[in-house]
Amino acid sequence: MSTKIADLAEKLDLSTKQLKEKILELGFELAPKARTVDDDVAELIFEELSDSDSSDESPADKGDIAEIYDEIIAEEREREIVKSQRKKTAGRDTKKKVTHVDTVVDTSKAVAIPAAITVKEFAEKTGLNAAKIIGELMKNGILANINQQIDFDTAQVLAEDLGIKVKRIREIAGAEELMSGDISNLVKEDDALLLEERPPVVVVMGHVDHGKTQLLDAIRETDVVAKESGGITQHIGAYQVEKKGKLITFLDTPGHEAFTSMRARGAKVTDIAILVVAADEGVKPQTIEAINHAKDAGVPIIVAINKMDKPEANPEKVKGELAEHDLQAEDWGGNTVMVNVSALKGDGIDALLDMILLTAEMEELKSNPNREAIGTVIEAHLDQNLGPVATVLVNTGTLKVMNSVIIGNTYGRIKLMHDHNGKSVKTAGPSTPVLIAGLNVTPKSGDILQVVKSEKIARERAEEIGLINKKETMDQLSATNQVISQVKSEKILKLIVKADAKGSLEAIKQSIARIKDEEVAIKMIHTGVGTVTESDVMMASASKGLIIAFHTDFDSPNVAKTAERENVEVKKYTVIYDLIENIKAILSGLLEPEVIESVIGRAEVKQIFLTKKKEMIIGARVLTGKLKDKAKLRIIRGVTEEDQDNIVGNGEIDTLRKVEAKVKEINEGNECGIKFVGDPIVEVGDILEAVEISEKIRTIA
Ligand code: GDP
Repeated sequence: MSTKIADLAEKLDLSTKQLKEKILELGFELAPKARTVDDDVAELIFEELSDSDSSDESPADKGDIAEIYDEIIAEEREREIVKSQRKKTAGRDTKKKVTHVDTVVDTSKAVAIPAAITVKEFAEKTGLNAAKIIGELMKNGILANINQQIDFDTAQVLAEDLGIKVKRIREIAGAEELMSGDISNLVKEDDALLLEERPPVVVVMGHVDHGKTQLLDAIRETDVVAKESGGITQHIGAYQVEKKGKLITFLDTPGHEAFTSMRARGAKVTDIAILVVAADEGVKPQTIEAINHAKDAGVPIIVAINKMDKPEANPEKVKGELAEHDLQAEDWGGNTVMVNVSALKGDGIDALLDMILLTAEMEELKSNPNREAIGTVIEAHLDQNLGPVATVLVNTGTLKVMNSVIIGNTYGRIKLMHDHNGKSVKTAGPSTPVLIAGLNVTPKSGDILQVVKSEKIARERAEEIGLINKKETMDQLSATNQVISQVKSEKILKLIVKADAKGSLEAIKQSIARIKDEEVAIKMIHTGVGTVTESDVMMASASKGLIIAFHTDFDSPNVAKTAERENVEVKKYTVIYDLIENIKAILSGLLEPEVIESVIGRAEVKQIFLTKKKEMIIGARVLTGKLKDKAKLRIIRGVTEEDQDNIVGNGEIDTLRKVEAKVKEINEGNECGIKFVGDPIVEVGDILEAVEISEKIRTIA
């Protein structure tokens, strides 16, 4: 069904020409003479344009939230009515819809294409002659016919050669991708020119009572803008301050809980870690934990040496202790930024913010603000008035009120958006934390948010994710299997080692360090004397590591429960030998099996009966050994004494025939027919070498 552009323009109080310009600005395709657009497209355009001209100031700044919410719902209802009326009008429109530019080549605009496209579709989208495209592909060494698919990268090279700009159509993330918490693929940008600087996202970590909360409060106090606007400070889990015209985002849940629980779900949202160390107490167990967390996540650390107002403050002693953990202050000849502060008195805060900006600059943090948003949930809860609400940190793009979103296994349409000062906002760009309402269920921290075209798509995808989640809980991977699958991809086995005494810990560390393997590395991300704590479990969960407990146990039954919930395996030992043997056994399971290739026979090509795109029918005679059905084949040409391995191509035996009958193998001296699949380049006189591939499990010494 389609909607008349003229009707839509009238509703939006625009001229047809103005509307057409806006449609193109919004990135939709439209033929110059188009008179209608798809209903779906019309709906989206209507939403975009009817929203954008309303003022940013909303009564929510002053009034009661519940009242505002009702107002928004009423507005939404009105819009639904308009939409259904529009649909009725569109129903009477019998004209053929025109939504794509099919024949006109517009080199000033980027043509949107998917991750893979056939030559024919590419020709249609770009308006280029298909033969020209095939010719151009040939120049690049690619033989393709009109129905063959080319990937985006090939299409991009081709387009560049032909003077056309293309951009990738962003597809909705797969359910698995959304669930994994890994946003790297989602935020990837093909065109570096679209990237703009974004504020750094900072987390504050350190030992209990060293002043994390006080520091976060002191930093917040510097936000003149918030104070002037008279906003009521709302703790939404994150806030932003401005310094030298630049913004910095702070996650304001102190401690590593926020950091680890998000990391445990794979979310990577923080750019910089502030390590708070009290100048009078120095490095403490949780300081070391925090250092290891940040290091494991690859996040740069800035040290804030706090409580400098205290007479007992001894920053030099702190620096000495930090040096033992590989954090060397700049004035100690290292490169870790350390700033002396007093969170209580507000001293040194400016210098700390300057250092954050400097570090951020070096990290070159960038994203594309002009795209649909991807975000990560920092906190979520059920609000009495608003229902499920979540604080989302926008990773890339701009999140807008009325956007349809998928978050974890829930979905919704954003009805309300608040910044950290409780001010209602309509849009939120990269690195901005906002509280959103309009979801159907409360999501979890670490869940990914993705904007999609319609609420229907959001619902379907969320349901799909829900189903997968259910299945996963039913046949949940065992903890060790989870560690193994992680290590298989990263080739690092991460361990957290806890022991009852310093002596045994040292002995274990040395024995583990002696286990050597070329493929899998062992990394002890955290070691310590004492019980297995909540933090150890969260660290193991975040890094998909294993906990080794030597002559020690869980700190409390609660910690054991956390380990169970987070699916973290804690291996307990009382004998070092057993511990080491067990680690070796785990590693042996992780080693890729050795692939052994053995030549089982050679045949000479006597005749070629048929050549197709990826297939040939060949007549051959077995010279040595035997040929087996489904065996891999190497095509060898021009074999000489010196050049034994002149391999020109590869393939496989799809079927093997002796006279007419299909056979499993053919022995030396016999003739056979081979249906060959692979590089269709076999010539009479070539030698086909049949190879059998077997795998041998390796163990570690
Ligand atoms: P957290 O557990 O790391 O969040 O620590 P808090 O921020 O709650 O601070 C713990 C205690 O240290 C509180 O009593 C603070 O008032 C005090 N404190 C924090 N920063 C400073 C400081 O710079 N100087 C002094 N003298 N006390 C501080």
